This record gives sequence, structure tokens and C-alpha cells, in this order.
Amino acid sequence: MDFNVDKDGYYGEFGGAYIPEILHSNVKNLRESYLDLMNDEKFKEEFDSLLRDYVGRPSPLYLAKRLSEKYGAKIYLKREDLNHTGAHKINNTIGQILLARRMGKTRIIAETGAGQHGVATATVCALMNMKCIVYMGETDIARQALNVYKMEMLGAEVRPVTSGNKTLKDATNEAIRDWCCNPSDTHYIIGSTVGPHPYPDMVARFQSVISAEIKSQLQEKEGRDYPDYLIACVGGGSNAAGTFYHYLNDERVKLVAVEAAGLGVDTEETAATIHLGRKGIIHGSKTYIIQTEDGQIVEPYSISAGLDYPGIGPIHANLADKKRAEILAATDDEALKAAMELTTLEGIIPALESSHALAAFPKMKFDDSDVVVLTISGRGDKDMDTYIDAIKNQKI
Ligand SMILES: *Cc1c(COP(=O)(O)O)cnc(C)c1O
Repeated sequence: MDFNVDKDGYYGEFGGAYIPEILHSNVKNLRESYLDLMNDEKFKEEFDSLLRDYVGRPSPLYLAKRLSEKYGAKIYLKREDLNHTGAHKINNTIGQILLARRMGKTRIIAETGAGQHGVATATVCALMNMKCIVYMGETDIARQALNVYKMEMLGAEVRPVTSGNKTLKDATNEAIRDWCCNPSDTHYIIGSTVGPHPYPDMVARFQSVISAEIKSQLQEKEGRDYPDYLIACVGGGSNAAGTFYHYLNDERVKLVAVEAAGLGVDTEETAATIHLGRKGIIHGSKTYIIQTEDGQIVEPYSISAGLDYPGIGPIHANLADKKRAEILAATDDEALKAAMELTTLEGIIPALESSHALAAFPKMKFDDSDVVVLTISGRGDKDMDTYIDAIKNQKI
């Protein structure tokens, strides 16, 4: 079975491009040019050199000895937390800004929840001297002040969104609205493997540098270029898609995606989209969505602002549907405990999102000889307030 995208942008029955008429020519243009541009030698050269000298790639593949001992397997961590701006998101924004420039665009818009994608976008816009507007829900602006200051210092305009719950879903709606009004000069940099085709495929390809590096790093360290398990957290799905990309059709590798259960999959306060979602259309693509009986989108909840999206990328909807990937869910408390465990055992403070991936370990059974690679999608600096609260309240 082929788990990659088909020519219409579908992964199995998920994906596609459900967009308003006014965006058709824009999206069609992007669809017709993105593969040619990405495969252009000059583009690849510039992308690779920025990933190396600006982002700091390749990110290390670190053998976590104490964690390995505890869970009885050989556990490697793919250190996306060491990238410039502190997460994997920069891989995608570097790629898309180069693409936007090649397409002659002069204005960049983006949506952001926790502010990580907003900061990564504002960063590359400063680098390339492009106008940058970031849509962000008012609730998130209040929760993520530091990232708002960073975006503004980098020269971006942060536009508060006051509709709905004033969070990521609403910011995405507003960015799409802006794009509809400015289709010719504006490129919309989507931050995850979501949105209409070709976005999920394009973002997955830019993030696939993660699994390309895992292959060569494992070859060097283990004498074989594949692991037994790959583990990553999923919000919209971009760090997981990048981690899985070159192994999607390699059945020797078990894929494990961990979504945010919030207070629990059996509560209303959750973001476990694949566990609880039903099929529907959100932000231009068909996927699983948490919704009410009559199709109203339910506001997701997770302690981690990067994971509380009501949908899931179509890539992962299909991987789950075809049982190619195992989908686990980790609660807020499990993620907090996992964050503390990594900090104590390995001296690495992970992002709360990545802590959900780490929370998979106590739920899994390994053989001693298993080689496991888990992607640490980001660093914990932005989550220190949450960690401090948890420590004060003796939750961890
Ligand atoms: C945004 C973010 C995520 C979630 O996004 P994906 O597209 O699912 O990867 C995960 N980890 C970190 C550190 C993030 O900033």
C-alpha cells in the first residue's frame, strides 16, 4: 500500500482541497509549481544551506542511556529542540519562504496558536525582508505574551482574533479570510500538515529532512538505517509526518503517534482527535474532527497549546484508518510526568507537546534489542510557567 499523497491530494479518503472559488487559481498555481520548485537544484541548494548554517542541522540523534535502561530498549532522541527558534517548525517556514519568493509573493500571512509557528514565520520574514502578518486568537495572545513580543521584535504585525474561542481554529479562519482578499501578492504559510492540497504534502516534504537524517544517523550508529519503532506527538501532524516520511512504506518500522488526551479521552476536555473524531471537512481538507452530533466543531482542550487543534492532518487520519500507525493518547498529567522524567534522567527539558510523545513509554512493551527513535519536537523554555505551576502544586 502507498501511504503518500495521490494526484488529487488524497491520502486514502482523506485530504483533498475544499476551498472557496476565489482561492482556486492561487491553490492551483501552488499545486502545479511546488514540486518543480522543490526539485529545482538552486532551490535545494539554498534550502539545504540555510538548514545547515541558519537552523543548525543536522539535529543530533542522541542515545538516551538512562531512559533506555528504564524502558528496556535502545532509545534514541531526535533533537529538534536544538534547532534555531527551538522546534521543528523552522524547517517548514524556511522552505515555504523560499517558495513564496520564487512565486513572486511579497506579503506573508500565518496563523499561530502557542506562537511557535508565528515566531518561526516572523523569523524567516525578517531573514528575507518580507512583510509578515500573524493571526492569533486573543486568548492565546494573553497566554503567550513572550512569543508575541518576539514576533513584534522580529518585525511582524500580530493581529488579534476575537471570534469563536479566540484560539488556533479561529486564527486559521481569519488567515484564510485574509488570503481570500489578497490572493495575488500574498502567500499563506501554514504551520502544519493541514489545509487544502498541496499543503499537507508540501509541509511533510519540508519536514522529511527529519527522517532523512534519522536514516543516515542510524546507519552510522546501528549499522542499519531503520529503527523498530518511531514515536512522535501529533497536533496537526508535521513533526510526526517528518519523522515517519521515509519509512511510511517500510513495514519493518512500527509507527506510533501520540495525541493529547487533555483531562482524558472519556471527558469533554480533550484534543484526542483520532480517538474521538468523526469524518468532516475543516480548513480545506477532509479528516477526523471532534464535532457534535449536528456537525458543530467542539473546542479542543490540552495543557499544550501546540496540540489543541480540533482536526488532524489527513496523512495521519489515513495512517490510523489503515492501521499503519498506532495512535496513543496521553493526558496532561502523563505528559507532565514524562517531562519531569526526561529532565531528571537526561537533563533535557522538553516542550509540553514532545512530552506527550515521551508519555508513550510507560504504555508500551519493548524487547531489549529494539531500536526506538522518538522525536523531541521542541524545547521547554516556552512552557516553564506551566512546569513551575505543576511543581508548586506537587503534580510532578
Ligand atoms: C507546533 C508544535 C507541535 C505540534 O505540531 P505538529 O504539526 O503536530 O508537529 C509539536 N511540538 C512542538 C514543539 C510544536 O511547536
